[in-house]
Amino acid sequence: MSEGRFVERDPYAPIQYGYQVDQVLCSGRSDFQEYQVITNPFFGRIMILDGVVQLTERDEFFYHEMLAHVPLHSRPQPENVIVIGGGDGGAVREVVRHDCVKNVWLVDIDPEVTRLSKEYFPGVSCGLSDPRVRVLHEDGAAFLRNFDGRADLVVVDSTDIVGMAKVLFSQQFFGDVNRVLTDDGLFVTLSESLHFHFPIVRDVQNTMRDVFGHADLYTAPIATYGGNWWCFAVGHKGRGCRAKVRPTVAGTRYYCDEIHSGCFLPDFLYSRLMDPSRDRF
Ligand code: SAM
Repeated sequence: MSEGRFVERDPYAPIQYGYQVDQVLCSGRSDFQEYQVITNPFFGRIMILDGVVQLTERDEFFYHEMLAHVPLHSRPQPENVIVIGGGDGGAVREVVRHDCVKNVWLVDIDPEVTRLSKEYFPGVSCGLSDPRVRVLHEDGAAFLRNFDGRADLVVVDSTDIVGMAKVLFSQQFFGDVNRVLTDDGLFVTLSESLHFHFPIVRDVQNTMRDVFGHADLYTAPIATYGGNWWCFAVGHKGRGCRAKVRPTVAGTRYYCDEIHSGCFLPDFLYSRLMDPSRDRF
């Protein structure tokens, strides 16, 4: 970060995004990563981890709503939800809008992210105080390996697929998710951008197909994630999440019936994505 300016380097694409910095609210290093909270005149407060934007006050709801509500609205009564990563609390805030949900495990390796979110992003972290939520700070892969319950939904809301988050995209981790999921359960994970990370998106789909038997992909426009055309990969055992079966919970700003039915990648694009000879549409 230089005076008045933060430059983000996408971990996989030769692209940089520049943000005007009005104020650096805090800056430091936890046991796991570097962090900053800055303010920008357009996006408001921004949380940065290891030089990559994680969330902004202005656009975080697009991402968090899509991560939680597409899978949750496709089941009549999901009760048990595990969120891996997501220590800021944004995904959990959306999950707890569903009254049918009885238990939420939020497992982020880094307690500092939760502390920062509580201090600087109270509108994001607010769901963490819900009595149904257990906040745990440990590696998500280790947590799942030892988890002996069942979940209707497992969500991965991690940092990019590098460093300590890489394990959350491995065949072995997906296998542990598969073991924990109910027969009707769903696994949803961030899956980078169709513009910038085409082969990565395909790899995640292929690993999901191998492990769960079925995979699907939906997208959302995220202003601050590299490539912007952001993907959510879904692993399931036969019943995906294309059909919405309940009315939309109160409080969403982006997610609704029209977004649910329109967010899945159309077949002609999906078959190009899965064609191993292509690296672009
Ligand atoms: N929405 C953000 C995005 O996609 O850019 C992610 C937000 S969230 C802050 C990402 C979190 O994943 C971080 O707090 C980080 O500590 C956590 N994380 C990364 N690897 C992890 C792992 N192996 N187990 C648990 N949490 C992990």
